[in-house]
Amino acid sequence: MADCLFCKIASGAMTSDIVYEDENCVAFRDVNPQAPTHILIIPRRHVGTLNDLGPEDAALVGELTLVAKQIARDEGIADDGYRLVWNCNRGAGQSVFHIHLHLLGGRTFGWPPG
Ligand code: 5GP
Ligand code: ZN
Repeated sequence: MADCLFCKIASGAMTSDIVYEDENCVAFRDVNPQAPTHILIIPRRHVGTLNDLGPEDAALVGELTLVAKQIARDEGIADDGYRLVWNCNRGAGQSVFHIHLHLLGGRTFGWPPG
């Protein structure tokens, strides 16, 4: 999608601090980190919100989760603990409408989330 910020990051049209990429997904550091480690994992294909996913996307969602797990290991936060967050729509805090999995770690987190 021409006007989508994360499509631009995925295509390389906009620079970001990429920590991992493959044919299906890209992971890069959040520009406004909410924890010492804050990485966003996105599909290369544009999907606006989680509500737009279908059964055919099960493998893609699974890969994004497994990539997050591996990055957590590589960042050294796997054993202490980390949080994965999908925000869906504005009521949950979604501000960029290309789905992204937040990987947060390097500090302790409260529950319930704010
Ligand atoms: P949301 O609020 O939609 O769940 O998360 C969007 C995230 O994207 C925010 O944490 C925000 O800091 C991050 N973000 C917004 N614009 C950019 C950008 O241009 N580059 C990077 N790396 N992160 C961005
Ligand atoms: Zn997009």
